[in-house]
Amino acid sequence: MARTKENTSTMNKRSIRNTDFAGKTVLVRVDFNVPKRGEVISDDSRIRAAIPTLCLLSNGGAKVVICSHFGRPAGQVVEEMRLQPVRKRLSEILNRPVLDAGGPNGTQPAEIVSQLEAGDFALMENLRFEPGEEENDKNFSKYLASLADIFVNDAFGAAHRAHASTTGVAQHIPAYAGLLMEREITMLGRSLEGSTDATVAIIGGAKVADKIQVLHHLSKKVGTILIGGGMVAAFYVAQNNPGGATVVSEADRLAAEDVLNANGAKVVLPSDVLTASEFSKSSPASIWESNNVPDDELILDIGPRSSKKYAQVISLAKRIIWNGPMGVFEWPAFANGSIAVANAVAANNKGTSVVGGGSTAEIIGALDLGDKITHVSTGGGASLEFLEGKTLPGVAALIDATG
Ligand code: AMP
Repeated sequence: MARTKENTSTMNKRSIRNTDFAGKTVLVRVDFNVPKRGEVISDDSRIRAAIPTLCLLSNGGAKVVICSHFGRPAGQVVEEMRLQPVRKRLSEILNRPVLDAGGPNGTQPAEIVSQLEAGDFALMENLRFEPGEEENDKNFSKYLASLADIFVNDAFGAAHRAHASTTGVAQHIPAYAGLLMEREITMLGRSLEGSTDATVAIIGGAKVADKIQVLHHLSKKVGTILIGGGMVAAFYVAQNNPGGATVVSEADRLAAEDVLNANGAKVVLPSDVLTASEFSKSSPASIWESNNVPDDELILDIGPRSSKKYAQVISLAKRIIWNGPMGVFEWPAFANGSIAVANAVAANNKGTSVVGGGSTAEIIGALDLGDKITHVSTGGGASLEFLEGKTLPGVAALIDATG
């Protein structure tokens, strides 16, 4: 069955590709909200993801002023949330100096920016030290715009937020999508296009409440939804099966029932599950049939038969969307369902595979399967909202491709 395209599913915004930036000052919003222990960055993939855009601009003769948020300092200067370790790492990766542009809420970057030469890089201090950032304050947006001739948004991970540096600034200077932003929108959009029947979505994670909107949207967009994670209990209860000891609220039961009755995608539940008597890493795992889970056992992973079945369904798909682990993957006894799914997604070479969500990307990274997946999204909340069919404010603010 052919599907029509919808707004969010194509890249209909101007990207920096084929654009002349020579001599211009470009403010680039990136997502450098990297995991850090003390001063040490434990995973620099978000910094690396921005490199193609930064290099394209610099090689094209732009003066590149980079800005990002880090953590949740709530409008105040928090020493541990300074971007200086990120600046150091960025400079190492680029093998070029990255100047400290200072500000916001400190020395003003305008002076440093005025000293930049074509091709130079400077990084501003954490945007969220300034309360106007998250408030999308008009004056702060104008101030950001005053630093540059052009704005480039490459922070897909922050595109679901309407902040000064994602939407406000775009009202004052021309705003383009960076290469990462372009790839995210294109790949996530492509995963929802084409034949519904050939598309399989795998949805897991902690709670049905977090995923209900995405389940609803995908139920109209894909042929099959494989369910895993903490929400399995809600789906069992909605089918009048015992859901074990997992507490299922009436709202969650109704939400699951809604998805089952949506008359869209085929919803597949695990036919067996792994359980434990306590929510604990050391609690031994037991296997139960779906209709027989004891009421004092918590469902913590899909079972081995379900893992095989899910892998088989995934092997036949032409498009795969995966968001949310199948179980408590952080604990080895309950990681097998997620590992089986990850391997099956990586082994499928019939079409495209798109993985979104922080935990899901973590599984792919831990198994070193990143290069066997068509696209691993850098945006957790943003990719989820995209798959829910929502328009992301940071994307909407960019210049239309036809404009
Ligand atoms: P999410 O961010 O919604 O994708 O959820 C990821 C989290 O869901 C991980 O930390 C998993 O440990 C957790 N999770 C997955 N399955 C279960 C389960 N059956 N019970 C409790 N938590 C789960």
